[in-house]
Amino acid sequence: MRGGTSTRIIVLGAGFGGMEAMVELERRFRDDPSIDLLLVNENNFFLFTPLLPQIVSSYIEPRHIVQNIRDIRHQRRFRFLRARVTRLDLTNQRVSTTTGDLSYDYLVIALGSVPNFFGLEGAEHCYTLHSLEDAVVLRDHILDLLEHADHESDPDRQRQLLTFAIVGGGYTGVELVAELHDLIYRHVGPRYRGIRLAEVRLLLLEARSDILVGVDPDLAARARSKIERQGIGVRTQTKVTCVAPGRLEVGGDEIIETGLVIWTAGVRAHPLLDSLPVEKNKVGRVLVTPQLHLPDFPRVFAIGDNAVVQGAPPEQTPQIAPVALEQARLAAENVARAVSHQHYASFEFEPKGMLVSLGMNYAVVNLKGLKFSGYAAWLAWNAIHLLKLVGLKKQVQVALDWSLATLFPRDTSIIRTPHRCRLCHPKETQQ
Ligand SMILES: Cc1cc2nc3c(=O)[nH]c(=O)nc-3n(C[C@H](O)[C@H](O)[C@H](O)COP(=O)(O)OP(=O)(O)OC[C@H]3O[C@@H](n4cnc5c(N)ncnc54)[C@H](O)[C@@H]3O)c2cc1C
Repeated sequence: MRGGTSTRIIVLGAGFGGMEAMVELERRFRDDPSIDLLLVNENNFFLFTPLLPQIVSSYIEPRHIVQNIRDIRHQRRFRFLRARVTRLDLTNQRVSTTTGDLSYDYLVIALGSVPNFFGLEGAEHCYTLHSLEDAVVLRDHILDLLEHADHESDPDRQRQLLTFAIVGGGYTGVELVAELHDLIYRHVGPRYRGIRLAEVRLLLLEARSDILVGVDPDLAARARSKIERQGIGVRTQTKVTCVAPGRLEVGGDEIIETGLVIWTAGVRAHPLLDSLPVEKNKVGRVLVTPQLHLPDFPRVFAIGDNAVVQGAPPEQTPQIAPVALEQARLAAENVARAVSHQHYASFEFEPKGMLVSLGMNYAVVNLKGLKFSGYAAWLAWNAIHLLKLVGLKKQVQVALDWSLATLFPRDTSIIRTPHRCRLCHPKETQQ
């Protein structure tokens, strides 16, 4: 209890898990003024990550997949603090942020994940796709490479500029490579007269024996066959061992000259969790009890990409949005149970299916065991993602983006001036 009058519940992170946890807490404590609800997030928006690959391909506009937290809050009473969390002190029940320290009675940690490079040499030369900013930077960089390739007279250098390597054949890598294929073949090809499409190489590199591991094998095979028929080079059992400007190394000896390397090969839990005095798995996720709290801290919950449930099979806690959402609801329920001195409930997750989009007009889908692919699956993918988007305005904006893309060319204007690339801007990037 705070000052004998109020109980403060803080939720860290306003992604899928944190936002849902706060909405559920608000629902449970709406009429209880003794409960102080505070949501902390570094950005003032909620990001709908499943549509990030479509930002990179200029299919939809960046602002259309984010929703301002104050708009989501609307009439709700919880407080929102835009700040970056810098330290967690569980012993003293304090959270440090860029705007000051906060104390809590109950804490829900939902800070998400960061890209995992597994110690890769030259990781700093990779592009990632994890935030809205990543997507916009990547989009502009790809368009910049195309601009330079268009007037490049040296055929070897042009081929290098036009080689795009995506590392990681999971959902993100596969959806991204399919989006890039759409962008290049449907929209950029006809507009860049100095580029022959035969010179463009899209490579998907995966260290494991197949792509889309964890997806139904039949659907994964259909997805692979579809992208290979499009000319995308899929290489499995191919481990990237080093990345340098303009090239990457696979298997310790083969060099591939490339315009850019996009790393989608894995994520790890937010680095702030490393300091917590609790057990973690090998990608830094905290091992929580089936009731989702930290073992020695019954008032501290960790959810979504931050947590893995002790003893549960891995398929019960994959790092996907539905897991974060369900855990958020349970964490909020357990906080409410604790406040009213009841026993905690336990987490159970029933996977409902999976959806992978392979560019315009094709997807593979498994909905509660109903498996299908092709145009119908693509319509299902669109409908489900549109429904999951937060806010009617955003739903309308994305639906319009999709519709306009069938009628008009995509807007491939470069918004920012990319300067990181040593291939396109050798003079500006010289040390
Ligand atoms: C490109 C991409 C595509 C994806 N596609 C799918 C998909 O199709 N389907 C699916 O189910 N899942 C998908 N995922 C995975 C899904 O996004 C995550 O599993 C889900 O977001 C996890 O929810 P979370 O609440 O744990 O973390 P997040 O949703 O990542 O939320 C974490 C929040 O914490 C904030 N934060 C981070 N650090 C700080 C800090 N220091 N201080 C304050 N705030 C901070 C972040 O800004 C963010 O708002 C995708 C992920 C990516 C990157």
